[in-house]
Amino acid sequence: MLKNSRLAKSISDVSWSKFVDYLNYKAQWYCRELIKIDTFFFSSQLCGECGYQNKEVKELSVREWECPKCHSIHDRDINASKNILQQGLQLQLASR
Ligand SMILES: [Zn+2]
Repeated sequence: MLKNSRLAKSISDVSWSKFVDYLNYKAQWYCRELIKIDTFFFSSQLCGECGYQNKEVKELSVREWECPKCHSIHDRDINASKNILQQGLQLQLASR
């Protein structure tokens, strides 16, 4: 995300570590566990239905895409959030 100048400015303004501190605080407040996934996890490129990695959708300007394998239609952000949740749950299971 830091390669995109507009996003980089936003991320720098907020201070990423401070944001994580807030997330930790809120997670503890609500008795939840905060799980961090790898920065380089391809959350936007993976089809949330079949797991196919579509490298053609790297650009942030691609907001919606169809999986070439299973033909599911994805909203970029919703699909990425589902993939992040699944990755976090897998990491949680692996840590037990
Ligand atoms: Zn698919």
